[in-house]
Amino acid sequence: MALRYLCAGRQEVANIPSKTVSRVPGLVVLGSANAVPDESHENSHLLLKGRQGAVLIDCTGRPLVNLKKAGLGVEQLTDLILTHFHPDHIAGVPNLMMASWLAGRKASLRVYGLHHCLERIEDLMTAFHWDEWTGFFPVAFHHIPEREGMFVLDNEDFQIVASPVRHYVPTIGLRVLVKETGFTFAYSSDTVPCPETVRLAQGAELLIHEASGDEPLGHSSAAQAGEIAQQAGVKRLGLIHYPVWNTGTEHLVSQAKSSFAGDVFLCQDFLDIPLT
Ligand SMILES: [Zn+2]
Ligand SMILES: [Zn+2]
Repeated sequence: MALRYLCAGRQEVANIPSKTVSRVPGLVVLGSANAVPDESHENSHLLLKGRQGAVLIDCTGRPLVNLKKAGLGVEQLTDLILTHFHPDHIAGVPNLMMASWLAGRKASLRVYGLHHCLERIEDLMTAFHWDEWTGFFPVAFHHIPEREGMFVLDNEDFQIVASPVRHYVPTIGLRVLVKETGFTFAYSSDTVPCPETVRLAQGAELLIHEASGDEPLGHSSAAQAGEIAQQAGVKRLGLIHYPVWNTGTEHLVSQAKSSFAGDVFLCQDFLDIPLT
């Protein structure tokens, strides 16, 4: 019988100790495409590697394969943050759960997100009858209030807060402090250009901002991402969630540079970004 928790605040669950994940904290881009991936760009999702555990931000594609490629064992993923309930951000969750279980995972997994997202994830898993998965590892759901600057997690490696951004469904952006180095970065998730992202990224070393294209109700262009980076006063801008299907990407960095004075780069799958 699976042991699961539904809770409104923090909840500690014991994880089986695993060997050190990473000597220094790092951020790996596991996917960089918008909702339409291609052979070399998976849907956008990120992996935060700490010394003692790893945090997956959104979950798509073939999760265990990608985590293994990033150097992570099945037990070493300790936390999963879901930014919103769109297939290109959460469709990998059932596969992550089932494959980890079948691969012998015993350690508990913490899952964070807005109520809108987590209640749908539970419904999705219920549709797969996960309560009948014998010996399934514990999963603890942490519902994040839909307000600015909300605490998500605070562990040995990272402190992470979330703010709602502006997208077609309730969505959060994130700000991460790397405790060891003092490095801070923000991730916009899917959003139109908005002041919430500017506040979330204020003064950070790095902003990873989506660049799907100018969609007034849900997304941002590369130039708009540059404007947000400029307003937030960040040092570097990484463009993510950009179109790759039958289209080139060469123009994106120069578009962002037209509105941002700092350094701009294009996130690529398995780009390893040092957090120092
Ligand atoms: Zn998306
Ligand atoms: Zn979306």
